[in-house]
Amino acid sequence: MPATDRRTVWTDAALAVLGLVLPVACLGCGRPDRALCRACRTALDARPRRVRLVAGVRLDAAFEYEGLVRTLLLELKLRGRVDVAGPLGRRFGGLVRAALAASPADTVVLRVPPSRTGARRRGFDPVVVLLARGGVRRTGRLSRVRAAPGATHPGQKERTATERVAATVGTLRARGVDGRCVVLVDDVVTTGVTMAEGVRAVRAGGGLVVRCVAVASVED
Ligand SMILES: [Zn+2]
Repeated sequence: MPATDRRTVWTDAALAVLGLVLPVACLGCGRPDRALCRACRTALDARPRRVRLVAGVRLDAAFEYEGLVRTLLLELKLRGRVDVAGPLGRRFGGLVRAALAASPADTVVLRVPPSRTGARRRGFDPVVVLLARGGVRRTGRLSRVRAAPGATHPGQKERTATERVAATVGTLRARGVDGRCVVLVDDVVTTGVTMAEGVRAVRAGGGLVVRCVAVASVED
């Protein structure tokens, strides 16, 4: 691990420990309170869900990826702020449980894997943390056959859409899904290319994706 990364890890760890003993400011309005004060929590709960179509499958996103939702997700993913997982995870997990309730009993929840570098840097999976807060405890994962192209962050578009789609096809594989129904989950869906590759991988493995669920969706 490069020295700068190691420093970042230690800084993040120190901040996480300090957060347990120092008063916390609300991430929405800055008032000294919990990670998210009651007023901001209520405002978050009032935000609309999003629905899209990805590779012919309905995608339910708990939130639009902007403003406070973006802030909370970044705090969780980059700084390990698991204290913000509750408000996001409850709605996300609720959508997954609703999809499971409408599907056969042996339906599996599979996570679209994060990029290798992101997973290594964090050492924990924010999607698993969010699902646990939302009451979903059994989650599998698609496997990554080879590295997906970059541009996993919104706004980062160094490749054309065509190049990105071509480079993404065949990067994921689904095992043990033959004849089974699958709910695919991910944290943020931007272009939908990665989620669509997840759908392709499940179909190639003989499974049926009945629903895609994301914490947040980037609107066009
Ligand atoms: Zn607040």
